[in-house]
Amino acid sequence: MPLIEVIELTKRYEMEDVVVHALRGVSLTIEKGDFVAIMGPSGSGKSTLMNMLGCLDRPSSGRYVLDGVDAATLSRDERAELRGQKIGFVVQGFNLLPRTPAIENVELPLAYAGVARKERLRRAAASLESVGLGNRLHHLPSQLSGGQQQRVAIARALVTNAPLLMADEPTGNLDSKTSEELMAFLVNLNNERGVTVVMVTHEPDIAAFAKRVIVCRDGLISSDTISTDRRATK
Ligand code: ADP
Ligand code: MG
Repeated sequence: MPLIEVIELTKRYEMEDVVVHALRGVSLTIEKGDFVAIMGPSGSGKSTLMNMLGCLDRPSSGRYVLDGVDAATLSRDERAELRGQKIGFVVQGFNLLPRTPAIENVELPLAYAGVARKERLRRAAASLESVGLGNRLHHLPSQLSGGQQQRVAIARALVTNAPLLMADEPTGNLDSKTSEELMAFLVNLNNERGVTVVMVTHEPDIAAFAKRVIVCRDGLISSDTISTDRRATK
């Protein structure tokens, strides 16, 4: 069973006097363990597609099956629950709570899931350790470098053991050296832990770390190719 199966998905945004057809009938299958980069010009529907795949919003029509669950017709609450179980999100600005230590940032999704405090702290510490920040548990975000903050965000995304990691422009705020380190880290996560990664990026250098590149254009997929020259990581 594929992790993601999308069939003829459409999304219309109805404004006062205009209707925007942001997705015009996208079909897509993503297997467990894949690493997909989504590219395409501004306005082509990348973020809308990510919002659909991430169960943040509901399509206008079409089918979306996430890990065997029919997600297109769920209510807002049901979508939130499904997200909590299946998806970790990493966003460009990290979205860490500023005056809150790393470990408390990371335990948040577990708190939402109703996990008891002691277990939360244990799992949050283990998750930070797994991203190489076992010695930074009580640092505030302001006491960490950009790359370290991004890794806290990844530790938070992974703490629930979600099978899918979604990232919208994860390297957008990072310098090129830190970006490459982050990508090497994501590739490792994909290889070693089998986490499926779907990320949006504008940068061909970053997309080159993916196994597969999907290009959006005018609300459709204009190409979907396997990377034959996937960038090596150290
Ligand atoms: P991309 O991420 O590729 O830049 P988007 O998915 O953000 O593209 O946008 C696709 C199209 O849908 C654009 O024309 C955009 O203006 C429109 N759009 C996106 N979000 C909304 C929204 N919430 N309401 C109305 N129109 C939207
Ligand atoms: Mg966008």
